[in-house]
Amino acid sequence: MAARTIAHRIDNVTHVGDGGRSAPVWNPATGQVQAEVALASSATVDAAVASARAAFVSWSEESLAARTKVMFAFREIVHARAGQLAEVICDEHGKVLSDAAGEVQRGLEVIEFACSLPTLTKGAYSDQVSGGVDSYTFRQPLGVCAGITPFNFPAMVPMWMFPVAIACGNTFVLKPSERDPSASVMLADWFAEAGLPAGVFNVVHGDKVAVDALLDHDDVAAVSFVGSTPIAKYVHGRATANGKRVQALGGAKNHAVVLPDADMGFAAEQLAAAAFGSAGERCMAISAAVAVGSGADQLMELVDERARAVRVGPGRDAGSEMGPIVTPESRDRIVGFIDAGEAQGAEVRVDGRGLVVPGHEDGFFVGPTVLDRVDASMDVYTNEIFGPVLSVVRADDVDAAIALINANPYGNGTAVFTNSGAAARRFVRGVHVGMVGVNVPVPVPMAFHSFGGWKDSLFGEHHVHGPEGVEFYTRAKVVTQRWPESGLPGDASLDMPTAR
Ligand code: NAD
Repeated sequence: MAARTIAHRIDNVTHVGDGGRSAPVWNPATGQVQAEVALASSATVDAAVASARAAFVSWSEESLAARTKVMFAFREIVHARAGQLAEVICDEHGKVLSDAAGEVQRGLEVIEFACSLPTLTKGAYSDQVSGGVDSYTFRQPLGVCAGITPFNFPAMVPMWMFPVAIACGNTFVLKPSERDPSASVMLADWFAEAGLPAGVFNVVHGDKVAVDALLDHDDVAAVSFVGSTPIAKYVHGRATANGKRVQALGGAKNHAVVLPDADMGFAAEQLAAAAFGSAGERCMAISAAVAVGSGADQLMELVDERARAVRVGPGRDAGSEMGPIVTPESRDRIVGFIDAGEAQGAEVRVDGRGLVVPGHEDGFFVGPTVLDRVDASMDVYTNEIFGPVLSVVRADDVDAAIALINANPYGNGTAVFTNSGAAARRFVRGVHVGMVGVNVPVPVPMAFHSFGGWKDSLFGEHHVHGPEGVEFYTRAKVVTQRWPESGLPGDASLDMPTAR
């Protein structure tokens, strides 16, 4: 039987592209290829950008009320069909259904944020900045915006971008991950059903060919990227060289520091959940724990216990807490890192290699893994593993933990577990990281705050969604005006204008 093909969405209709290249989409729980996804040529990208460019003319002129109405209708549809979206995510990504539902909820919250676009895009007015002169600032959309997104949040990360961009009056071309592309198509269909005019939101699938075509396209004004650090750096460099506004979010190595005064049972539970949730395939996953001082041995025993208890199985199985890895290549890469950690001297306390899930022998499973006595020179520490592997480093005090985090090139998220307000404050103020949790292991900001890391976790000036998202997708215009009641004054001067 010929494989189902996942096609592009351009102008609110299915677009098969030029019928050229395609890539397999796995079901990670069964190890079977379930579909092929079309990989766009640059001609297909041109068609999507042309559609978005044409649609911008009228969409950017729509009233705030008209745009808000479509956003609210879209919100209702996504809310009503959240379960359907979660199932598609589960089948292509592998994460368990309840976790997929959480991802949809976090994306939905960005749509809800974008529903308040009349408030978000309000300008500012200054009366009488000079005699008979007033001044005001307002923000206008940029034009065609592009989004390039990773596999690990196939619905939420696109929803960080396109609802805000579109609410602000832009049109959008999304290039989702080719590994789990169906969620984006579903969202595009639902947005059209909500009344979004053709061309405002387009989805093109693809790989480097499609990405490069977007980065080089004269009619793309801005690029939002989320993915690994090397590609984020590349996208930022190439798109800024082409004069575009760019925000490029990269990879992570998130440390959770457990101080000796913390509740060790609580910390161990939280650490395990943050390290093994979604099989560690989260940019905010805790992949490094820093056990400080005297509490370390007790903490490790509790973490081991929780890691061994994690129920690993297919995402559709209600009993599963953790699903498979997205592709066989990713699974092999993760196992390779565990091997390297062991060879370089880490103590493998819990070993997820070779895990077989009965009935799903061909699935891409790796069990929770705990590596102790890791040091900063080991491959498991210097690389983002992006799998269910918790590397534990031991440190003498909070300052040593802060120094370790600050020496790391990544700066996405971090957390501290403690009962001391003073130690927490010292940590929060001292770490060079964009998102910090205090007794909260995965400190993902709510939609009305902005999301983004520091250092090699973000290239560009703006974080995504929240107030910074609105700023990113609009540009300010400042108007200085006078309407004198008794005719224009004849006071032109060659001097620099100053207020009277
Ligand atoms: P990835 O970098 O491989 O892919 C991301 C996107 O870039 C995809 O759409 C992909 O098609 C495209 N791409 C891949 N190779 C390319 C190339 N050579 N040239 C141009 N485009 C290319 O990332 P991934 O494996 O899909 O996702 C996991 C990564 O994303 C992890 O590093 C994770 O930390 C990161 N991530 C970061 C955040 C964040 O907010 N900072 C959020 C989610 C994921």
